[in-house]
Amino acid sequence: MSGNTIAAIATAPGKASLCTVRISGDDAFLICERIFKPINESKKVTEMKGYTALFGNFYRKGNEIDQAVALFFRAPKSYTGENVVEISVHGGSAVADLLLKACYEAGAKPAGAGEFTKRAFLNGKMTLTQAEGVMEMINATSAQAVSAARSALEGHLYKRAAAVRDKLLVLAGHISAYTDFPEEAVEAVTDGEVAEILADAEAELKKLMDSYDTGAKIKQGIRTAIVGRPNVGKSTLLNALSGFEKAIVTPIAGTTRDVVEQEVILGGVNLILQDTAGIRHTEDEVEAIGIRRSLDRLSGADLVFCVFDGSEPVTDEDLSLCEKCRGMSAIAIVNKQDLEQQFDRSRIEKYFKKVLFITAKDFYMSKEFENDVLSVLGIENLDVNTGIIVNERQYDAVRTAYNSVKDANYQFKMGQTLDIVGVCIDEALYAVYELTGENVSDEVVEEVFSKFCVGK
Ligand code: GDP
Repeated sequence: MSGNTIAAIATAPGKASLCTVRISGDDAFLICERIFKPINESKKVTEMKGYTALFGNFYRKGNEIDQAVALFFRAPKSYTGENVVEISVHGGSAVADLLLKACYEAGAKPAGAGEFTKRAFLNGKMTLTQAEGVMEMINATSAQAVSAARSALEGHLYKRAAAVRDKLLVLAGHISAYTDFPEEAVEAVTDGEVAEILADAEAELKKLMDSYDTGAKIKQGIRTAIVGRPNVGKSTLLNALSGFEKAIVTPIAGTTRDVVEQEVILGGVNLILQDTAGIRHTEDEVEAIGIRRSLDRLSGADLVFCVFDGSEPVTDEDLSLCEKCRGMSAIAIVNKQDLEQQFDRSRIEKYFKKVLFITAKDFYMSKEFENDVLSVLGIENLDVNTGIIVNERQYDAVRTAYNSVKDANYQFKMGQTLDIVGVCIDEALYAVYELTGENVSDEVVEEVFSKFCVGK
């Protein structure tokens, strides 16, 4: 036995119809043979080909425990690139624990957090950014988050980074040949070429950096504050958007005294709706606390729905709220269109990215409403499939690369010698290698995979 074989439960804990234990390493088949007997006695576990399955029973300390299906993968054609056996038994933590214990007793070691995916990375089955995509996929809570994770998994981010890397490599190669062997007739890189490559790389790295913000929004959800005077219909809107009653709707002003939160999915993106206390001047202490919280939510929001009552004229309280929405991703929602209108939109328009007219009482989510919201967020044409930055590690690497390329560009424009420009380019390349995982320290690898769960 080589001692490098690991095992862990790969499925979520709790009651379920199936539970899978994954074993990976040189001795995966041997360990399986010790705990699993196929119904078809003519089959020998250690001789199974890859991509085949056996039905049988698993045993612990000589006792038959449960029926099981074993799936076999032969190195290198497996998730980890090693020999892998996945044994599925009936779900439930007790059975799963017994199976796992049996694996340990037969020679497997407990897998560490993310160890299967780490092995896949170390065995060249995936790049570091793809491995990170695996984790994003596990944590994804909306359709867009799934697409972003899938995109990382498919290597789109890696390809974008590799394209920048290749450009910089060509340039670095030219520069070092030219500066190290000036006496040899190395073809000079023209100023135009240097400027063009640096400008391209800078622009692409900037785009990648900007994608982080979008990625973070998609992942964490968009904090959306619903604000407005009391009784304009904020709670009614929240309920309409959520599809069921969550906030208390009453005609008495000041009933929503705290912030009510509700997550909804709009256009594949998670909105964390925050219904807030109606904002108005008040002598009531409790209401005043609620109002302060509303204002906090407003200033910390990624998106604001500022609701107005269309059946009333614009008030000073409306206008002071408008002022607070200035410069934010804020949408004015003029409610109660079913009533006679007294609202003068021209007085509030300039504060908002968009003005929408609705009847919250009979509101239903339309494609237009979705598109309006996404366009205010600047993600209506979001194509997460182009590869976006999904975590801070990636962002740091891209930012370092960007700053170095920018520096190279600056030095070049200031007429510095090519070897100085070359130093900046090398720094940028180093950062890109860190992003792709082509040159990362063991600590970074440990850090990336420590965030995974055991079994992945
Ligand atoms: P909030 O204080 O801003 O949260 O307002 P509510 O959602 O509690 O609504 C205040 C009152 O306005 C309630 O009586 C609602 O039924 C009513 N209301 C809300 N939306 C509409 C609407 O679109 N049309 C009409 N006519 N009444 C509405």
